[in-house]
Amino acid sequence: MLGSTTKTENKGKMWPRNEKGKAVYPSELFGENVFSFKQMAKCLPKPTFASFLKQRRGKSKLDKATADAIAHAARVWAMDRGATHFTHWFQPQTGTTAEKHDAFLSLVPTFMQGGDESFAIDALSGSQLLQSEPDASSFPTGGMRSTFEARGYTIWDTSSPMFIQEGPNGTMVLYIPSVFISYNGEALDEKTILLRSTEVISKAATEFLATLEPEQHVSQVTATVGLEQEFFLVDRRMYTLRNDLKITGRTLVGKLPPRHQQLEDHYFGKIPARVLKTLSDLELDAIKLGIPLKTRHNEVSPAQFEIAPVFEEASLAVDHNLLTMDLLHKVSHRNGLKVLYHSKPFKGVNGSGKHVNWSLSTDRGENLLDPTVRPENNYRFLLMLMAVLKGVHDYSSLLRVAIATSGSEHRLGAAEAPPAITSIFLGDQLSEVLNAVEEQRPLKNFSVPQFQSIRVGGTLVDLKVAPLPNIARDLTDRNRTSPVAFTGNKFEFRALGSNQSPSFLIAMINAAVSAALKDITADLKAALGSKPKLTAEDKLSVIRKYINITKPIRFEGDNYSSSWVETAAARGLPNTPDCPSSYLALKTPQIKSLLSSTLPILSPTELESRFHILNERYTNDLLIESNTLHSIVSQQVLPAAYSYRSKLATSASALKSISADFTPEKLALDSFAPALIKLAEVTERLGAHISEVEAEHKSGTVESTADKARKLLYFDLLEVRSQCDLIEATIPDVDWPMPSYAEILLTF
Ligand code: ADP
Ligand code: MG
Repeated sequence: MLGSTTKTENKGKMWPRNEKGKAVYPSELFGENVFSFKQMAKCLPKPTFASFLKQRRGKSKLDKATADAIAHAARVWAMDRGATHFTHWFQPQTGTTAEKHDAFLSLVPTFMQGGDESFAIDALSGSQLLQSEPDASSFPTGGMRSTFEARGYTIWDTSSPMFIQEGPNGTMVLYIPSVFISYNGEALDEKTILLRSTEVISKAATEFLATLEPEQHVSQVTATVGLEQEFFLVDRRMYTLRNDLKITGRTLVGKLPPRHQQLEDHYFGKIPARVLKTLSDLELDAIKLGIPLKTRHNEVSPAQFEIAPVFEEASLAVDHNLLTMDLLHKVSHRNGLKVLYHSKPFKGVNGSGKHVNWSLSTDRGENLLDPTVRPENNYRFLLMLMAVLKGVHDYSSLLRVAIATSGSEHRLGAAEAPPAITSIFLGDQLSEVLNAVEEQRPLKNFSVPQFQSIRVGGTLVDLKVAPLPNIARDLTDRNRTSPVAFTGNKFEFRALGSNQSPSFLIAMINAAVSAALKDITADLKAALGSKPKLTAEDKLSVIRKYINITKPIRFEGDNYSSSWVETAAARGLPNTPDCPSSYLALKTPQIKSLLSSTLPILSPTELESRFHILNERYTNDLLIESNTLHSIVSQQVLPAAYSYRSKLATSASALKSISADFTPEKLALDSFAPALIKLAEVTERLGAHISEVEAEHKSGTVESTADKARKLLYFDLLEVRSQCDLIEATIPDVDWPMPSYAEILLTF
């Protein structure tokens, strides 16, 4: 069936049908392009497959014979499906992925066969599968290596399966998911750090469980992640006429049309036909790659949409998110559209985020953040809840670093996304449970709304009586303004930008929660002493302690309100609205000792390099935006304004020459002049500030340059823009030199 589907498929433009003309079910296509366990089991000798599985479980190293056999089987599998090349696919610290293709084609030279002619074979050796050495000098390294010693290695990440993707003219490329490290073994990428963090949290959580419920024998805990991806789709022809979108990913000028998102008619509205076609094409490619895309819908702003997959193990979820972004980019192009991933592409309407839904699951398949229907597990649930609260409370400045990009400065806190202050929303019911435990009193009776009758579990009873009551799921009134929210059986982190790789944020969540789990485990061990088992009161007293410590991070109100900023300050919660000052957290002894000594996630050199890369990226983003805006004003806006002024002047003088008694052109000219002068002025200042930041870039430190960029360019960009937008409102539509917001946003 599967073989026949590709035959009748119309280049991904129509949903595939089998030879009887019947549509192929998505479940039949799922993972078709993945060299999955099932494929491996089919293609490999039994002992080889067993030895691979053993290696994956961390029980042995991959030996040469196994690697050679897997490489051979993967190549044949891929070539049977049209592959001509392979690539180590990795995730440098640029937010995207990188690949360099190598042909399977190899020449066996003459000298090897005693002087006869060379001949060609197709080959992939075990060592080629395991390791490759791209020239690493052009990837961000944060000064870890100078260009002359630019050795970097990509190494096969056996936890993520190989897959094939379309190359040119119907060929395929075999993708080998890889990590990217330096000659000295330092991480040059995002994945290495994520993988280290998943090991760290597995260890911390299993030790916690071994202390709390030793009879369960949990030996591995996995971070699970589901990523909701928001984006804009715009007409490609409009896009190509906007230099700001093409160069920076966001509009640097543009005034809002009278109607945009006020009517709230786009959210969950009917998906426009061209968009639906694009998303359906995406889904076809995605499910073949084993990406379980599940939902699609319109978002709040016109031309804004969202997709989300079913959650998976963290590192795979990240691979799949990055692949999905790439696929959507391609299918949009095919459908005459352009996808915008910037977290704030348009001023005045919502920006795009990437919600990170996060939880922990045991090797017995139990979700540790599920309140469950088994009351005896409520202690475990409440202690896990405390671990997340404590981790986020202690390390909110670290989580802040992971979401700080130049784009986030325009989105976070703009009354559409949470502010830069981290807090956690638990919902009324769970807050009441924590309050009752803390105050050692019975739970208040909840007037349960109608819809809650479908809840899982029984009634709520006196908390002082062990065992604890069931805690019903889905009782939380959704608070969309909170940066972190408990949503039934997982936490949702909502501040990440849509164009960011989720990798570093997830790694830092894992780190923060691991540290808290270690504290909690130590307290449980102390309470246990020499007793055989922890009592209910032991557990409750630890829970109580952490409820107390983590109170400041809990907030149920409106995070968009200005009073929250004051309340948060009084609670001592950090608030760093700009990037350069949030990056400084990486320099604090608290963060350094967490990541480099308490938990082996980032070495001091890697931490320093990340600090360097983040600051550099910020400066570069602002310089690129500033230079782009400068040229847009000089080459497009000002010339258009001058030509409009000249039209007005000609018309006014012509009217004057025939002694017309009323010349509105003259009035328009008079009111236009000050805006034009102001624009010329602020643009000149922008030019001067660009030079100043560029000079600092040459002589200053990365942080002094980023700081200067923020202090000068960030505000210049806003000011020049507002003058341009005033002028756009005056100039006739036909004379405006680029597509307007109305033309771009109201396409569908
Ligand atoms: P919304 O936030 O829009 O209500 P959903 O409730 O549909 O979205 O879920 C959002 C994401 O959370 C989905 O990708 C879903 O698979 C994921 N998710 C659900 N359970 C878990 C879990 N235990 N761990 C991680 N992610 C999860
Ligand atoms: Mg969500």
